[in-house]
Amino acid sequence: MNDGARRVAALGLILAAAAPPPAPDPLAPEAAPAATPFFVRPFAGEHRLLNVFDHDLPLGAADRNRRAVDWRGRRVRAGRAQDGHAGYDFAMPVGTPVLAAAPGRVVVAGAEAPHACHLRPGLASALWVKVQHALPPAPGSGAGNGEAEQIVTNYVHLSRIDVSAGDRVAAGQPLGLSGNTGCSTLPHLHFAAARTWYTRDGTRTGVWFDPSGWRGRGRDPWVQHPQGAASTRLWREGEAPAGL
Ligand SMILES: [Zn+2]
Repeated sequence: MNDGARRVAALGLILAAAAPPPAPDPLAPEAAPAATPFFVRPFAGEHRLLNVFDHDLPLGAADRNRRAVDWRGRRVRAGRAQDGHAGYDFAMPVGTPVLAAAPGRVVVAGAEAPHACHLRPGLASALWVKVQHALPPAPGSGAGNGEAEQIVTNYVHLSRIDVSAGDRVAAGQPLGLSGNTGCSTLPHLHFAAARTWYTRDGTRTGVWFDPSGWRGRGRDPWVQHPQGAASTRLWREGEAPAGL
């Protein structure tokens, strides 16, 4: 569950080289791009939620504020969430089918570069899949206006991969089987989403966000952070896992 090296690898591929047009103000009410929810649950049935997306703040080991705040703005006590976690962890038996959350193109399918793991000695390398999706425009939003936003989803700690980089996948299509590979001590699926975004310094880059959105009181701490991004709720009706 140490996401450091994985974060670097995951974000690297969606960094955009082009000079950005004027950056929108991430704190403006309209900053969270409207979108038609298009995610389906990345597994069948329900599996226990082990870890939430930490809105305060999803910075991995760099987040040392000793608190985790979930999408409803609730502070989650230590032991029930990981400070700095940038995705969702679901406990599930090894061998559970893992499904694409949305249509897209597989951009990574393989083993992570070996990296240090805070949970045990030595290097860890998870099997993982990354899928790139185009964000469907909201009705009436003027499709084709500006640059297409890109969203990626990551599926980590797999025991088997059934797709290859370059494959087109449909929503709900099996990508492989869950497992306990890499920096993990119990069988689970790490599911995370990132989007291209203009940070407050105007850089267009890939940033983690919460596909469950933000329903907390006040402003989302993550959107106020210099490297933060707005969290748009992307679960289709009836598709959010329990508690999300
Ligand atoms: Zn995780």
